[in-house]
Amino acid sequence: MALKQDIVLAVSAIQTEKKLFLFNVDAKYPSFECDIENFEINVNGSPTWYQYFLCGVKGILETLPTETPPRGAQIVVDGNVPQSAGLSSSSALVSAAALAIAAVYDLKIPKEKLANLCAASERYIGTQGGGMDQAIAFLASEGCAKYIEFCPLRTTDIMLPREAVFVIAHSLVELNKAATSDFNCRVVECRLAAQLLGKIQGLTWREVRTLGDVQKQLELTLSDMVTLVKNSFHEHPYSKEEIAQTLGVTIDDLVDNSLTLNTSHVNDFKLRHRALHVYEEAIRVQKFCDICNNKDKDSLVKLGQLMSESHESLKNLYECSHPKLNKLVNLVKDVCFGARLTGAGWGGCVVALLTSENVQKFMDLLKNEYYKDLLRNNAKPWDEVIFATSPHSGATIYKD
Ligand code: ADP
Ligand code: MG
Repeated sequence: MALKQDIVLAVSAIQTEKKLFLFNVDAKYPSFECDIENFEINVNGSPTWYQYFLCGVKGILETLPTETPPRGAQIVVDGNVPQSAGLSSSSALVSAAALAIAAVYDLKIPKEKLANLCAASERYIGTQGGGMDQAIAFLASEGCAKYIEFCPLRTTDIMLPREAVFVIAHSLVELNKAATSDFNCRVVECRLAAQLLGKIQGLTWREVRTLGDVQKQLELTLSDMVTLVKNSFHEHPYSKEEIAQTLGVTIDDLVDNSLTLNTSHVNDFKLRHRALHVYEEAIRVQKFCDICNNKDKDSLVKLGQLMSESHESLKNLYECSHPKLNKLVNLVKDVCFGARLTGAGWGGCVVALLTSENVQKFMDLLKNEYYKDLLRNNAKPWDEVIFATSPHSGATIYKD
């Protein structure tokens, strides 16, 4: 679901010049200008804020018909999505940029296409992200959660139980996902697991990119895939040599075909753990939807249980948690139905399921047990650190 927090852009199109001027209301982000058709997105190390914006610009430029008249824009950026906190401020910025630039060129692009385009163009920053965040940025609707499916991208409304309240709590650990190789390492492990499973099952493994691809091609259920993973992969990590040997390729070929620039040095791939997490998490997502759709008795208890199982799996199988996130989840376990880290992990926020009458108790507990010492020197306002939320609508253009 989309949060209430957002990125807001004030956009003034320039009809004669191909210049792009970017200003950020937050003084910590420097202004930037460039030729709108001529810029580079640098993927080495920590990206600057406007490079996320340029990802969205690049995505739109790639769709422009030839013979497009020159355009430019002056844009002021403001935003209150907590940053580097697993709430996808990066995708909010990329998506807002693409929507704005599409409007500058008078392009009418369907929201599904915009979401796919933004998912692809955010990868110019160097992270091999999926498409959920961009999908919800464009396709969210107020009052209901969305079940998101890909290829083709489509969403289905999921009515959450009426009494459900989600509270987000920030661990105050921030991680820019493009600044380390952790995020891409998990993507690569899933890709290698998919390719190895494909090879073992006699598929054309080079065409396999995701664990979902393998399941689709084998026409098996998710629980069949869990069994297959358990029967196919050993517990200890795989080395590049072992994977290359099984696939029947050289290590150079493996690096070119399956790894990314910032993961080419990695030599420990926990294929069994990562693949198990992915298929079991997908089963949990389906169960979550079924419980909501069937309006099950005790649905909050069941949904909370799924969220807690999800966190355990993210911690132990996917290994993308952080001691502070685990601490938060442990602290709140008796005052909510369940909690898990949100977004990519390695820091950022947890999301907990509760009812409105417990919100105050939940917040007081964390203020006393978690934030008291941490926030003494932290200038963040409370409503950026811990807040209740419900499903809000997706990206919109307001015209004067
Ligand atoms: P997440 O998507 O979890 O918030 P990322 O590490 O993917 O974290 O992206 C965070 C980066 O997005 C920030 O470091 C900053 O460069 C950019 N960003 C997000 N929101 C804004 C904003 N309002 N203004 C400028 N840059 C922003
Ligand atoms: Mg992000």
